[in-house]
Amino acid sequence: MKYIGAHVSTNGGTQNAPQNANRIGAKAFAMFTRNQRQWTSPLLTDKTIIQFKKNCKAAGFNPRHILPHDSYLINLGHPEEDALEKSRTAFLDEMQRCEHLGLQYLNFHPGSHLGKMDPDHCLERIAESINRVLNQTTGVTAVIENTAGQGTNMGYRFEHLARIIGNVHDKSRVGICLDTCHTYSAGYDIKTAKAFENTLQEFDTLVGISYLKAMHLNDSKKIFGSRVDRHESIGKGSLGIEPFKFIMNDARFDNIPMVLETPDQSLWEEEIRLLYGLID
Ligand SMILES: [Zn+2]
Ligand SMILES: [Zn+2]
Repeated sequence: MKYIGAHVSTNGGTQNAPQNANRIGAKAFAMFTRNQRQWTSPLLTDKTIIQFKKNCKAAGFNPRHILPHDSYLINLGHPEEDALEKSRTAFLDEMQRCEHLGLQYLNFHPGSHLGKMDPDHCLERIAESINRVLNQTTGVTAVIENTAGQGTNMGYRFEHLARIIGNVHDKSRVGICLDTCHTYSAGYDIKTAKAFENTLQEFDTLVGISYLKAMHLNDSKKIFGSRVDRHESIGKGSLGIEPFKFIMNDARFDNIPMVLETPDQSLWEEEIRLLYGLID
């Protein structure tokens, strides 16, 4: 079974996300658990938490298919102590929010060395950040997203992901989210059946397919290997529709949340229908 959805709005409160997802025919969804452009946010109230759980149940969403995304401000590999501490504190807050909401995952970009640190050291620092936060929480898995490798972002090579996981102590609470746009922009071809299979094999060899906990389904505005992160609506970018056919008909992507982060929200309902229609 495939669980497709989109990164939906929490306008009016976190509790509204499930209905927003349900309205567009989603069977999975992503959301922010707090304002993603601010360092601090008010605590989730009991009322919000109860209502969120109620709304998830009413719309038939299982926590396994909900993939909260952390704030864009957080950099778990920050080269400077103060900024690193700030990021770790904010990340812990986000993990705790997920805990309170009864959620299982928190999806995040690994971090950036900002040109001030050795990339390998940055990867170790990211793992250390994850270890600290896992020690202080229970039940929530840290889901690392592969990146396009823009600027000084880490996580665009499968080796980076493997290196981070290798240094995480509790391997049962770390996972990977592969973003199709990022994968292709980072230089992993997925456009033909053979290329797609080779890329998945490489992921399995270096990281392990068992760590794959979620997908982001995005086409790319930029060309193969551009290292630029610009999402495009499904079938309208340099990826085209083929890779999504492979995903929709491959059992390795069963039962995990697969979330659209495509730029035109008015198309999400149609894109979800289109993706389900690709199943043979
Ligand atoms: Zn993504
Ligand atoms: Zn992206």
